Amino acid sequence: MPTLAVEDGFSVHDYRAGLKLLEQDGSTMTLENREGYTCPVSGDVFDRLLVAEDQALSFSSPPPEPICVRSTPEKILVLAH
Ligand SMILES: [Zn+2]
Repeated sequence: MPTLAVEDGFSVHDYRAGLKLLEQDGSTMTLENREGYTCPVSGDVFDRLLVAEDQALSFSSPPPEPICVRSTPEKILVLAH
C-alpha cells in the first residue's frame, strides 16, 4: 500500500478512497486508515491520521498509541499507530 506523500504538501483528497473522516473540528480533522496506507515517518501502517491546518497543535489528553508527527508547509500530520 502507498505511503502518504508529503514532500510537496499533503492533500487528504488524494487519499479520499481509503481515509474515512471520523471527526472534524475547526481546522483539524481525524481520519481512519482503511486502506493500509503507510506512515511517511516510520514506514509502518498507521491506524488514524490527524491533519491540522495550523502551525501549532495542542492535545488536552495525549494519544494512547505511539504517534509520528510530520509537518508540511501548510499542515501538521499526526499519525497514530
Ligand atoms: Zn509512523
